[in-house]
Amino acid sequence: MKKSLRSVLCLVAICYSTLASCQQAAVIDQAEVTRIITTLASDEMEGRMIYTPGIEKASAFIESEFEKIGLEYLDGLNSYKQQFNMYSLSSESASVTINGESIAADKVVGMISSASMTINAVADANIVVVGAADNMQAKFGEARGKEGKTIMLVNTAHEALFGRFKQFFSRPSSVMELDDTNGMVIALTDLSEVKSLSVEVKNNIETKSLNNVAGQITGNRPNEIVLFSAHYDHLGIRGDGEDKIYNGANDDASGTTAVMTLAKYFKDTGKKPERTIMFVAFTAEESGGFGSRHFSQKLNPDEIVAMFNIEMIGTAAKEGTNSAWITGFDKSSFGALLQKAVEGTGYKFYADPYVKENLFYRSDNATLARLGVPAHSISTTQIDVDPYYHQASDEVSTIDLDHMTNTIRALAAAAVRMISGEDTPTRVDPANVR
Ligand SMILES: [Zn+2]
Repeated sequence: MKKSLRSVLCLVAICYSTLASCQQAAVIDQAEVTRIITTLASDEMEGRMIYTPGIEKASAFIESEFEKIGLEYLDGLNSYKQQFNMYSLSSESASVTINGESIAADKVVGMISSASMTINAVADANIVVVGAADNMQAKFGEARGKEGKTIMLVNTAHEALFGRFKQFFSRPSSVMELDDTNGMVIALTDLSEVKSLSVEVKNNIETKSLNNVAGQITGNRPNEIVLFSAHYDHLGIRGDGEDKIYNGANDDASGTTAVMTLAKYFKDTGKKPERTIMFVAFTAEESGGFGSRHFSQKLNPDEIVAMFNIEMIGTAAKEGTNSAWITGFDKSSFGALLQKAVEGTGYKFYADPYVKENLFYRSDNATLARLGVPAHSISTTQIDVDPYYHQASDEVSTIDLDHMTNTIRALAAAAVRMISGEDTPTRVDPANVR
């Protein structure tokens, strides 16, 4: 199987390079794949958690590789870093007084994406009362959907669930934009009639920097882009086990390695491609998808003709090694084009067999798909039984490097006709994406 894949790639290379013989052609080399994934998933990178020195090291490594490969910067940037600011919020105080009665601080939780929220009059707030017999979750959904400032009064019969809400919503959070207009406060109280109201919620706000790492090979049609992406962040250091470093070898050092080796491969073919090929390592996928959100706001999504989002390709798929599945298969003709491109090579692409897991929506592709881009994730993990998924044990030692290298080769072969402009996947209909 490997042999036939190599021969397909040899043909690919000949298309790209005027004088190429198979020996001289660009290759996707397993030793190179091994070097890159081993570096990204090393303990030195500390699990690549956002806002840590570990992810800075990972970014610097990817940047230096892009430099060596000779990628161009994205339009408007003067480095491979696509930097943006986040607001990191942590709760400072929250006080609520109803009908002149002050609610104890441990019975109040504020949920705001700004420095402060003040409510001085009943008329200035939506009031949602959760009675003893009500479904608190459902009422919470209703309250969250309201515009403006909202106070939710939760009957003490729900004390246990309130405690879990308080724990969850008291954790520091990150937002891309501050929001002064909307906010919510929850108070645990048996009061249900509000005659007078005074609320003051305060947050500490810290501005923090994040960055994607991005480069491109500009084509003859600069406004038609074939995008390869993966996320380079992971879960960092956590827990109290013996091994606390979540190296994220499969998730998603494997995809990031694919993006980097594909960049080198297409650059090494030596010929200017017809369409622009863009390579992006996203940050903060694991913390809310902020990297892809920022990226999607910085270019015209109509110009992206296809997005190969590569997620966890380091272990054999359900249908064996040398096979991979594609999320949202029916949402565009992208998957069918990939299948056709590798016909007869021994590699196989098929539709995501884990539809119930909603994987189409669980990675960076969804952000672009909502804008109409044929944006799909390609993966080979057996997600329902993967023992290493989001565990400290997701290490390079668990990776099948043969399979992974072949998958990258298959992706290179699958993209050729899209890069040459011969194939164009149909657009995703945003009405079919939630
Ligand atoms: Zn992932």
